[in-house]
Amino acid sequence: MPKNPNDPGWPYFPIFLKLAGERVLVVGGGEVALRKIRLLQRAQARVEIVARELHPELAAAGFSAHAPQFRPEQADGCRLVVAATDDAALNAQVAIAAKMRGIPVNVVDDEAASTWITPSIVDRAPVLVAVSSGGSAPILARRLRERIEGLVPEAYGRVALFLASMRGRLKAVPIEQRRVATEKFLDGVGAQRLLAGDEPSAARTLDQLLAGKAAPGEVYLVGAGPGAPDLLTFRALALMQQADVVLHDRLVAPKILDLVRRDAERIFVGKGPKQHEMSQQEINALLVKLARQGKRVLRLKGGDPFIFGRGGEEIESLAAEGIAFQVVPGITAANGCAAYAGIPLTHRDYAQSVIFVTGHARQDGHLELDWPALAKKGQTVVFYMGRGSLPALCESLVRHGLPRDWPAALVEEGTSTRQRVITGTLDDLRSKVDQAGVTGASLVIVGEVVKLRERLAWFKSNP
Ligand code: SAH
Repeated sequence: MPKNPNDPGWPYFPIFLKLAGERVLVVGGGEVALRKIRLLQRAQARVEIVARELHPELAAAGFSAHAPQFRPEQADGCRLVVAATDDAALNAQVAIAAKMRGIPVNVVDDEAASTWITPSIVDRAPVLVAVSSGGSAPILARRLRERIEGLVPEAYGRVALFLASMRGRLKAVPIEQRRVATEKFLDGVGAQRLLAGDEPSAARTLDQLLAGKAAPGEVYLVGAGPGAPDLLTFRALALMQQADVVLHDRLVAPKILDLVRRDAERIFVGKGPKQHEMSQQEINALLVKLARQGKRVLRLKGGDPFIFGRGGEEIESLAAEGIAFQVVPGITAANGCAAYAGIPLTHRDYAQSVIFVTGHARQDGHLELDWPALAKKGQTVVFYMGRGSLPALCESLVRHGLPRDWPAALVEEGTSTRQRVITGTLDDLRSKVDQAGVTGASLVIVGEVVKLRERLAWFKSNP
């Protein structure tokens, strides 16, 4: 084959070597040896260690040194050799002994002297992803591995084992039909159910697909977090990339919507404070209708679906109609705003509890809340939807006993690049907020913890 002058080439052949029951010689018993031995043990190799001293973890795992001193004959009959001492001369001796016997050898942290190297691995046994830069940039390879770690669900191995256990049923249908059914299963609710631990239902889905029937639809009720896209959970992202249709509202940032599968249908269901594009009943009915069409329906909500998100009502209606659903938690606005504003919600000295409460007033402007319980010291009160009723809520807290100079803050568009934090007291927060002209989604935090923001001077360099 002609050689491409731009291709630096790669002198390795990627293989997974079966080591169960095979002898492997490891020279060295310290920290680096330990790392290699863990992998060898996972591969069920018979590890023989040559070392004067053993790392306590190795001793605890039941290993003992085969011999204290290295002799070349120890390598006889071994499948692999590892040189992992901190003595370069000794490592070189071990490498020569192995090479003379035709045994592949790895000299730890010395790619040039090695005939085999270990990649970074993402372990979802029996699924294994290996990443290597051939020793040229181990940190880069590790970074890549970490990213893949996040992308491959923890239970991926379970999916592989499940498909293996279904081999009989899969083999019973023609190959093309099998391929189509398996792909649909992996992309759809089948694999999702398996990942959620429901094997019987996954098996039913696979059977349906093998019989050529459409898989049933499902609804994912997903929390999109408070705004910053990197505060999404891995699970939220995975479901966003699988959905056929997404129902979203005003609180979900465009940057987050961009991460939804490109060809998914997008339906805006509104829910601004005044402009309810679609009533809650209409949303509930639409979720049921779409799922009945066999679609994977993503109901994407700001923050957490179960915190002032009406998620409870949506799943009640789904359950009543017999539609399968999953709920994925999100970082709620209170957590996001608190962290990004440098205001701890609880603190040993200032707040032993935290209350999340809605400041959404009734049509007549009345705020029906348990004021005596809210107007207490030693706690933090977070008001969602409280911007409009800010004057009323500050006054009520004072009327029920909190001092006028009690600390309070408003966080606008928390965690986004537009975040603004306005701090003050129950007395002056309102005028400061008016002056600043706040219009975005805002959260009001009341309590002595607000003072900590000012004390944490380093925070001032952050938003
Ligand atoms: N389920 C959401 C809350 C929905 S209620 C959650 O868990 O966060 C909507 C209210 O949440 C808004 O009126 C506002 O008070 C608050 N909110 C949501 N995102 C916010 C943000 N990024 N910054 C400040 N407040 C926010």
